[in-house]
Order: sequence, then C-alpha cells, then structure tokens
Amino acid sequence: MRAAAYCRVSTREQVENTSLETQEQAIRAYCDREGLQLVRVFREQGESAKTADRPQLQSLLAYCASEPVDLVLVWKFDRFARELAQHVQLRAQLRGLGAEVRSITESTGDDDPAGRLLENVLAAIAQFDNDVRAQRTRRGMKAKAEQGLWLSRPPLGYRRTVDELGRSNLEPDPVRAPLVRAAFEAIAAGATPVEDVRQRLTEQGLATVTGRVVAPESFHRILRNPIYAGRIVFEKLDVDAPAAFEPIVAPELFAAVQDRLDGKGLPRRRAGDEDFPLRRFAFCAHCDRRLTGGWSRGKRRRYPYYRCSVCNGSGVRRGVLHGSFLSHLEALSLDRAYVPLFREVSLAAFRCRAELDSSERANLTRELNTVGDRERRLREAYIFERRITADVYDEESRLLQERRAGIERALRGPHVGVDAATVTRECEHLLADLGTAWNRAPVAQRRVLQRLVYPDGVPVLQREVRTPREASVFAVLRAIEGGGQRLGSPNGI
Ligand SMILES: [Zn+2]
Repeated sequence: MRAAAYCRVSTREQVENTSLETQEQAIRAYCDREGLQLVRVFREQGESAKTADRPQLQSLLAYCASEPVDLVLVWKFDRFARELAQHVQLRAQLRGLGAEVRSITESTGDDDPAGRLLENVLAAIAQFDNDVRAQRTRRGMKAKAEQGLWLSRPPLGYRRTVDELGRSNLEPDPVRAPLVRAAFEAIAAGATPVEDVRQRLTEQGLATVTGRVVAPESFHRILRNPIYAGRIVFEKLDVDAPAAFEPIVAPELFAAVQDRLDGKGLPRRRAGDEDFPLRRFAFCAHCDRRLTGGWSRGKRRRYPYYRCSVCNGSGVRRGVLHGSFLSHLEALSLDRAYVPLFREVSLAAFRCRAELDSSERANLTRELNTVGDRERRLREAYIFERRITADVYDEESRLLQERRAGIERALRGPHVGVDAATVTRECEHLLADLGTAWNRAPVAQRRVLQRLVYPDGVPVLQREVRTPREASVFAVLRAIEGGGQRLGSPNGI
C-alpha cells in the first residue's frame, strides 16, 4: 500500500513536543510497522487551520490526483481539519481520489459505522476546542468594543492614532472628516437623491485613503454607520457603546439622516432576539435573505411574525414557523434503541481523548521541571559564582520566564476536564428528544442548539421549514439507525 504523510503544527504544540520532525518520525515508524510504502511527506509550516492558507494541503490533494495513493496518514485528525464540515469534505475529496485518511494515534475502524461515528465525535471535539478559543477571542474583541474602541480598519474619515492611555485608537482625519460631515449635512438638509450628493462630494475631493472613488454602496454604508455619531455598534457581539474617540457628526444630525434615508418613516422598532430565536437563523429559500422577526400592527393585539425583508408579504406567524421547525428536530431525534450504541461510542471517544491528554500533560510537566532547573542554575551562576553579567542574566531569565508562562498556559488550557459519563448522559437526553430540549431551553441556548444541529440555518418556503442540511454527526447516527447498512461517504456523495 502506498501512503502519503501530512504533518502540521500549531503554536500550542511547539510547547507540546509534537514538532513536524516528531510527527514525521512517528509516521515513518508506523509505516515500517504496518508494511506501508511512504511515498511522500507533506510538511505544512504555517499555523493556520484554514484550508486556503495551507499550500501543502493543496499540494497533497494535487499529488493524490496524479499519483496512486492508498492512504493519507496524519498524526491526529485535528492536523487535518479543525472544522467538522471541512474534515468531512476533505475526506470525501480524498476518497474520491482513492485515498483513505488514517490517524496514527487515534484508531478508528474504517469501514464500520461505529468507527466512523467515533471519528466524527473526535473531529467534533476538536471543533469544540476551536470554538472555545474563538469564543475567547470574541470575548477579547467584545471587551475592546465595550471600551469604545474600533476593532478593524479605520472607517473613511478616521485615521489611526495612539491615545493618551497608550491604546491604538481613532481620530478624525483632517482631510476626509469634513467631507464626510458635509455629506451628512447635505442629506439632513433634504438634498436628493443620495447619488447626487455622492457625486458632488466626489468632485470636492471625497476619496478613499488609497485615492479611489467612494462607490455608491460604500457611501450608503457611511451614512448608516453609527460610528460617525460616536457609537460603536457590533450586532454580532451584542455591543452598543459610546466611542472612545471624537465623533464626526452630532447624534441629532445622524438621527436626522437616518430618518431621511428611511423615507421619514417612524424609526424602526427593533424586535429583540428574546422573542425570535429563529431570527437570522431561518432564511428565505427564494432569495437567501435571513428572516427578521417583528410584531404585526394589529388594532387590538400584535402578532409575532417572521418575514423576509426582500420578498414582501411572505411573513409567517411565529407559532407556525416554530411548529414546522420542531417537526424537523423531532424527526432527527435518536431512536431509543440506539442509545446504548451511542453511549459506547461516546465513552470510547472520551477515553481515547483523555489518554492523549494525560500523556501530553506529563510531557509538559517534565518540561516545566527542566525550566525550573535552568532558572536555578542561572541564579547560582549570577549571584554566587558571578560568571555572567547582569545583562546576560536579565535576558536569559526573561527567556526562561516566557517559556515557563507558555507551558503553564498550555497546562491550564482547554483539555477534556469534563466528566465523560455526565456529558454522555446529557447528550443522550438531548439526542433522544431534540424538540423538547429546544422548546424548554432559554433563547441563548436554543440558538446554540439549533446552530449545532443545522450549521447553515434553515430554509423557509411557503410558511414551512424545508429540509435543512444537518450536521454530519446526524447523518452518521441516521445511517446507524438505518440498521447496519453500509455507509456511503459521510457527506452523502
Ligand atoms: Zn426572500
């Protein structure tokens, strides 16, 4: 059998002793043991988990397309892809080229459904790990935004500066800010159409930092962006905070422009997520637009509706849509008869993960001891033996401190510290009755649950939820339920 190897490290692992060399050696040893012919090794140097940033992965795919390769060996499945969907897609792609993916440290029987479920569970755990990290980043961004700081490239009219607190912040750009202000003033004064205002200001010198003309859509976004009135609004992060920098227009002027753009209508009532868990999750099957939630203006009572803002009039009562959504969830629920199988596979996955975890932790602890020894020797050399200068001592001890901090971070970092039995039990309940779980959960949890089950959201057509794409874990469960029939590739090709 001809095998190709794919090795990759993340920053975390440079501490954990699983360098490219280590991975490659382990894979070579594995090939010797199993009698495989290792035809090519692909070593990814970058740290990104995104496929697009991984040239060696692309080379691997190209190689498998042109040369006969039976197996692609990885050290761990998360080397390969951290996102479940990506993992499944890559596997299917390689299988199409005649190559199976095998992890040399995580054994999964390749052709039995339980083995495939285990693999999916492992990939799901890797993804969970990833999500925890992403959430931490989001929290950091949210904290910054709440302090009134802008998180990305300065919007037109602002430029970067360092404020008196030493933070990277914004200030009005003396060239462009007056032109942006002039645009708001013109619209508020009733100048129409907006496009004429844009052209007039372009003639007066309104342009991007790179000197390009401001396109109509960008111009529109400027007029709608509350940052110009000194407010930082990130809907995704649930942030609406006063900016820590000088506004370009007064709040009243900004509000007047919004009224003009809305056709002087009443300011729109924003429906809370609290009332509409499927808001921005369900989407219109005609135009792909995410549905909004809102209240109808009845004479006596108001009714909750979901609607598509493009295909007018295709509103659907909240109760009707929720009912339709629930029937999909119920159809997905795991048959009681398969609960023992699920339990077995889930516990096996946790055991496997915990073993890996404890050996990694042992390595880290050993390294921490080594750092401690070196710190002690360094102190002795400096204080008692006077063999090194203060500069050398400072530099060396700074390096050791950084190393120590890195190891300690990794030791504290996310590991499976949960009780496998409890989690498995909770999952069983959840899977056995998704509908009830969704119905009873508070809205924030409903959103998490629905996103877990249907990663793309759900399409709505004629007041009903139409067959949404479910997370691949469910495809596997369904195949097992199907009664031992042989599985196709996990994404159903
Ligand atoms: Zn639509």
